Amino acid sequence: MTAMLRCYQVAEFGQPLVAADKPLPVPEGRGVLVKVAHCGVCHSDLHIWEGFFDLGGGKRVVAASNGALLPLTPGHEIVGVVAATGPEARAAKTGQRRLVFPWIGCGTCPPCRDGNEHLCGGAQKSIGIFADGGYATHLLVPDERYLVDIGDLDPALACTYACSGLTAYSALKKIGHLQDGHDLLIVGAGGVGLNAVALAKAMTGVAPIVADLDPAKREAAMQLGARDAIDPRAEGAQKALMKATGGVMAAVDFAGTEASFGFAYGSLRKGGHLVSVGLLGGVATISIGLHVMKGVRFSGSYVGSLAELKEMIALAQTAALPALPISHRPLAEATASLAALKAGQVIGRIVLDA
Ligand SMILES: [Zn+2]
Ligand SMILES: [Zn+2]
Repeated sequence: MTAMLRCYQVAEFGQPLVAADKPLPVPEGRGVLVKVAHCGVCHSDLHIWEGFFDLGGGKRVVAASNGALLPLTPGHEIVGVVAATGPEARAAKTGQRRLVFPWIGCGTCPPCRDGNEHLCGGAQKSIGIFADGGYATHLLVPDERYLVDIGDLDPALACTYACSGLTAYSALKKIGHLQDGHDLLIVGAGGVGLNAVALAKAMTGVAPIVADLDPAKREAAMQLGARDAIDPRAEGAQKALMKATGGVMAAVDFAGTEASFGFAYGSLRKGGHLVSVGLLGGVATISIGLHVMKGVRFSGSYVGSLAELKEMIALAQTAALPALPISHRPLAEATASLAALKAGQVIGRIVLDA
C-alpha cells in the first residue's frame, strides 16, 4: 500500500478548497519531507484563494501565474516534523520538529545571491504560493537549509512566525530602536499587526499606539502591551493623536488601504518614517514638496529573509514575547477558516492542526 498525503487545494479561484489524496513524495538531494503539525491561515492565503492582489486604481496582479499552477495547496506558516530526508541532506534528521522558511527564490538572481530570496526577481518557488504548502498532512521542502529549529517555543504560535511574525520583525527592524519620548504607531491589528505589537517593545524600545477600526482588535492589542489603541475613523482621531504626540516618529501600516496609508503618513512628525506592509490595495498621493520639507521616509517591507527569521526565533527564545491569540481548527476546516478571515472575524491567528 502506498503511503498517502491529504491536502486541501485551490482548484478554482474563489471556490471552496478541494480535498485531495496523493502519494507521499520522496525527497531528492537535500530535500526534506515534513509531516505538518500546524499551519497558520494568513491574509495572503486569501489573495491566493481569490486569485489576485489589488494594486489600486482598478489594477490587479493575478496570483499564482494566472491559474497555471492550479490546483495549488496554500499555506506558508508551517511547523512540522521531519518525516524523510533526501540522500544528500546532512543536518535534517527524522523526528526533528522544525519551522519552515517558505520564501524560497530561484537562488541565482542578485537578491537571492544577497540572501534576500523573499525579494527574488527570477522564478520564485515560495511554499504555499508557487509550490504546494501546508494545508496538508505533508509537504516537500526543497532544501534542508529552509528548516529552522524552534527549540521549546510553542509550535502553534511559532508557525505564525514564518510569515506574520517575520513580516512584523522585518518591518520593525527597518525602524530600529526609538529614543525615549518618540512614538510608534501601528495601523491594523490583524495577525501581522498583533505580532508587531508583541515584538514592538523588544525591538524598538517603546510600547506602540495601535489604530484599528475593530474594537475587539484594539482590545487584543492592549492585551499584548499597546500603550493606547484608537479608532482611526473616530471624529478628530488624527488631530488628537498629533496633539498627544506631536506626530509619531515611526509608523507601520499593516492594512495597506488608501485610508490606512493616509492616516499613518499624515501622523508622522518631521523626520519620521513610515513602513508600509499591508497589501489590501490602493493608490496614495504624496505631496512631494511636503515630503521633502518634512524630511520623512517611506519604505515598503515584504515578508523577510531566512536570516531575519532565524534572528526572530532567537529573539522569541530570549525575550518572552507576549503570545498573540491562536484559535485551533482541524485541517478539514480550511475553507471555513479562509471565509472567517475574509469576513474579518479572526482575532490573532487561526492555526490548522493537521
Ligand atoms: Zn532569485
Ligand atoms: Zn502570510
